[in-house]
Amino acid sequence: MSQTTHNTKRFDTLLVANRGEIACRVMRTARAVGLRTVAVYSDADANARHVREADEAIRLGPAAARESYLKVEAVVEAARRSGAGAIHPGYGFLSENGAFVEALDQAGIVFVGPPASAIAAMGDKSAAKSRMANAGVPLVPGYHGDDQDDALLKAEADKIGYPVLLKASAGGGGKGMRVVEAAAGFQAALDGCRRESQAAFGDQRMLIEKYLTQPRHVEVQVFCDSHGNGVYLFERDCSVQRRHQKVLEEAPAPGMSEGLRREMGEAAVRAAKEIGYVGAGTVEFLLDIDGSFFFMEMNTRLQVEHPVTEMITGQDLVEWQLRVAMGERLPLAQDELTITGHSFEARLYAEDPEQDFLPATGTLTRFAMDLEGAGLDPARVRLDSGVETGDAVSMHYDPMLAKLIVHGDDRAQALATLNRALAALDVQGVVTNRAFLQRLATHPAFKACELDTRFIEKHEETLF
Ligand code: ADP
Repeated sequence: MSQTTHNTKRFDTLLVANRGEIACRVMRTARAVGLRTVAVYSDADANARHVREADEAIRLGPAAARESYLKVEAVVEAARRSGAGAIHPGYGFLSENGAFVEALDQAGIVFVGPPASAIAAMGDKSAAKSRMANAGVPLVPGYHGDDQDDALLKAEADKIGYPVLLKASAGGGGKGMRVVEAAAGFQAALDGCRRESQAAFGDQRMLIEKYLTQPRHVEVQVFCDSHGNGVYLFERDCSVQRRHQKVLEEAPAPGMSEGLRREMGEAAVRAAKEIGYVGAGTVEFLLDIDGSFFFMEMNTRLQVEHPVTEMITGQDLVEWQLRVAMGERLPLAQDELTITGHSFEARLYAEDPEQDFLPATGTLTRFAMDLEGAGLDPARVRLDSGVETGDAVSMHYDPMLAKLIVHGDDRAQALATLNRALAALDVQGVVTNRAFLQRLATHPAFKACELDTRFIEKHEETLF
């Protein structure tokens, strides 16, 4: 972005192209910095909280996301009609859609996020890995070449050594991914992965990685402006996952030495700069038990779990996004950023752990948290939610109702606060995973920081 254009990027109205908790959270900061807010909604959300809280709301279409929140022309048209100068995409939906960003560029609307070229650079796993290798970012040993001949792939897998992980180059959301334990199972796994990837992404290219048996998922929050500056806002540990879905997150990651933190942070900033990144991004790494770390992917948007970073840095990441989108420089330099205390986030889902986590629906006859009654400090507990008492929970969208975020002077204090806050949460009318979150947050192994991506699987008997 050239220096001369940055004044023209000022906007006074922000359209939030999302729903639920993230739409409410983005609008909260937008209001605080004096912007007028525009919500968009589907028929299922005509009376949703994000619609009630916006200055103006525009209907996109029917309930199905494909006909509403995912419809590029409808969102662009809503921005035009409401006079919005910028669009914040939240996460999911159109947040990592390059064609959407190009449509906004053409319409002269600011996208609060990276350029389309940066999204494209990270969209394909094989291409992204080549770029990262160029930038000196460590990769999991493996193969990400163009040659997709069966015999060659098999030879590469043998060379890497089993177990290996087959991944669809075009993949995402854990689809088209399979662990191969031994050479004998390779061909069948390859055929299965190709079928799955073809069906889900219309693409059969595979990459192969060494399968790490006990890695932690540690991700680094990065931020770049359009003047060539980039910083990292430290890391989050998101190892507690169920079917590759994050459930509990924390910052900072336990047991990180200052040296490792800096090494990972600097690698993440190099990754972002390599692709001309602008805005908030997350570089995901696998951290092996011996302290080596490997690039996994970069998410080119604000993450669900960004509040734990806000808690330990005292920064508002949405405010940073809006400033950067307006062409301003990053508010702080690397040496001005520090970590204070510890933070956890628990994701509250409308789902039934007793029924294989089946999504639950209904009307919330009560949705509240009595902080005072529980003796909790409001400065240390944050509930980011997209719902209130009386709201309906439908089956059309992601079942996440809210995120409970806490802060403590240290990990033990933050964990104690998390448990008290979970107990103080009063949700009636819709089944949630609250009891499951409580079992996780009180688990001795979690307390003892025995973290890896198979935590839930390993402790199945004591968690269910
Ligand atoms: P997707 O884009 O489909 O989410 P990712 O590449 O981000 O796929 O991987 C999803 C999850 O799979 C990671 O969070 C991690 O738990 C696991 N994973 C990915 N690569 C490896 C690997 N090489 N070894 C072990 N686990 C892995």
